[in-house]
Parts: sequence; C-alpha cells; structure tokens
Amino acid sequence: MNSSKALEKLKNGNRKYRTSKRGRALITSKLRHKLADRGQHPYACVICCSDSRVVPEMIFSADMGDIFTIRTAGNVINSGEEASVEYAAEHLGVSLVVVMGHTLCGAVAAALSGTPYGSIREITDIIKTAVGDEKDPERAAVLNAENAVESLKCHTGLSSLIKEGKLEIIPALYHTRSGRVSFGPWKQEE
Ligand SMILES: [Zn+2]
Repeated sequence: MNSSKALEKLKNGNRKYRTSKRGRALITSKLRHKLADRGQHPYACVICCSDSRVVPEMIFSADMGDIFTIRTAGNVINSGEEASVEYAAEHLGVSLVVVMGHTLCGAVAAALSGTPYGSIREITDIIKTAVGDEKDPERAAVLNAENAVESLKCHTGLSSLIKEGKLEIIPALYHTRSGRVSFGPWKQEE
C-alpha cells in the first residue's frame, strides 16, 4: 500500500473511532492464525507515547497486524526506535511512518516544568532540546514530534528509501480529550 492510501486509511479509522460509542475489539482466533501463518503486512508504522490513553490500534480502528507500533514515553527516538522503523520500512514494506505526539503528555509536561530526576532525564533532555523555549504544552508536543520526524529522516537506512519515494515520515498530534488526530506537516504559522 502506498503512503497516501495508508494515510487515508488512518484518517478514516480515526473518524470511525471518534464516532463509535463502543470499541470494535475484533480480535479473533481466525485472524490470529492467519497472521501467524502468512506473516504480518502492516500498512503503517506509528510511533507514539506509552501513555495508556494513547493506543494507536484503537485510535485508528485498526486490527491486529495493521499497524507496526513503537511506543516510548514522550515518543522520543533513540537508536532502538530508529532500528525498529528501519525494520518496518525495509523488511515489512511499510511506506508511511507517523510520529504522533499527544496533548496532556506527562513526559512533555515534565520536560517543560523542570527538574526530572534519574534516568527519566534521558527522555526529558531529548524533549527539551526539541522544544527549546516553547512554554505551551500542545505546541511543545508538536515540536517534539516534528523533531523526531527530522531525526528519522536523517537516519541512513531511511533517507535512501525517502529519496526513492518508497517512504514518507510525517508528524501528527492526538487530542487526548476529543480523540481527533491532526496530521502534519503543518505550516509554520499554524
Ligand atoms: Zn505522553
């Protein structure tokens, strides 16, 4: 599936999610067996926060096998995440990668407010570098996602796929209260 079709599928899935009264939860043994026998062919890779309210499969009304998901607190990118994206793009043929930040993100709030301790600083330092002097949490979440997109685009294995037109990497923002996902890239003034 090409990246524009994959993006359309994510948008439709998110629309469905926002208008549903109940989740679909279509996990069947038939699907599980099919995926085990024929392998996985996800149509998109989504990198998002580990926040328990930000669940890509639900947000995009996706089934098991649809989305290759990478989750870290604050959706920060390190070498393990880069390698995972490379695996999705090169070996699974995923053509669309979405780095999805979200509103009400605790990791972003921690980076903005101040004095995280211990190994949590490994996360907040990356976010602080990405957001600079920005004080607005929503805008900071956007900057953090955009920064992750830029660092992925520079990754050796991925930049060649982008040049060949086989891969697109875009930022997105999940609105934790409304359930809406807005997809970038955004114009500077938005
Ligand atoms: Zn978060």
